[in-house]
Amino acid sequence: MSRVYNFSAGPAVLPEAVLKQAQAEMLEWHDSGMSVMEMSHRDKYFMSIAEQAEADLREIMAIPSNYKVLFLQGGASMQFAMLPLNLLATNKKADYIQTGQWSEKAIAEAKRYGTVNVIASTKDSKYTTVPAQASLPTSTDAAYLHYTPNETIVGVEFPYIPQTNVPLIADMSSTILSRPVDVSRFGVIYAGAQKNIGPAGLTLVIIREDLIGKAMDSTPVMLDYKTHATDGSMYNTPPTYGWYFAGLVFKWIKNLGGLKGMEAINRRKAEKLYAAIDGSSLYTNPVEKSCRSWMNVPFILANAELDKAFLAGAEKAGLTTLKGHRSVGGMRASIYNAMPEAGIDALIAYMKEFEKKNG
Ligand SMILES: *Cc1c(COP(=O)(O)O)cnc(C)c1O
Repeated sequence: MSRVYNFSAGPAVLPEAVLKQAQAEMLEWHDSGMSVMEMSHRDKYFMSIAEQAEADLREIMAIPSNYKVLFLQGGASMQFAMLPLNLLATNKKADYIQTGQWSEKAIAEAKRYGTVNVIASTKDSKYTTVPAQASLPTSTDAAYLHYTPNETIVGVEFPYIPQTNVPLIADMSSTILSRPVDVSRFGVIYAGAQKNIGPAGLTLVIIREDLIGKAMDSTPVMLDYKTHATDGSMYNTPPTYGWYFAGLVFKWIKNLGGLKGMEAINRRKAEKLYAAIDGSSLYTNPVEKSCRSWMNVPFILANAELDKAFLAGAEKAGLTTLKGHRSVGGMRASIYNAMPEAGIDALIAYMKEFEKKNG
């Protein structure tokens, strides 16, 4: 067996220790006589798994008691529709900040249900920056303000939380759990699991209770937050294995010192990689320094004709999925929580060696 360093943007690397634990528990979870995948979601074994996972998430994120945690399916993309369906029933106006391809998609979907006011866009910069904090209006009559704290494709990240007088909604798919965050600043936080939480198929929603129960009449039952909040995310069969696996990841984070611990590790990893990029004459990162992502690090080679050779050599060195998104080109290293520091070191060593030969 030889595991690679996988820099995929998602589904992405998972903590090896957690994979091993899941492997050890695969055939029989504790004394249940069965795999987690085979359990009824309503039996006592799965209930204990589900409750523990939520308790651990609440602890590591310090989620206030007036928030519900929902374990849903449908991905972050389903939240693009679920949010307006649930929050635009009476006031049909929503504010959005546009900082990349994911916020573009969220905006397009919201437009189907109401009036979208794009209060700031960084499209002209090719999404290599975020709006200045002072440029954003702090008062609005919209139903909510939506933004994308970390845009996964370009690797641009807000270094601040926007101030607003309305519920703030964050698509945290690619940055959740990477460092501490003040949950009380948000109305809704949502994230597809496959970047920093666990396997694809699970979507986390953290929602303030007063935002539940306001859906448009035509909202499908399955897309109404109330349905899932009322039934503890068990109105229908939840993504049980993903929920279990996420629980193991939450414990893993706890053992690393919680989100403060993760923050220290992630800061070090990102700083190292950006320093290597900035210190070279072959690689560049297009994003403004103050808003570079800790999780997704694109880098462009000075000569695009070298891309193929870079990727082939990387593959040989056990460094995979580094090809950049087609809209940006070059390379992108996604370095989520589960990417070990040794993976960053190996990538930097390879980049230096490649530059020596080709620079
Ligand atoms: C990956 C990603 C999405 C899409 O997630 P799905 O779970 O595939 O729907 C949305 N927003 C951001 C910021 C992402 O990184």
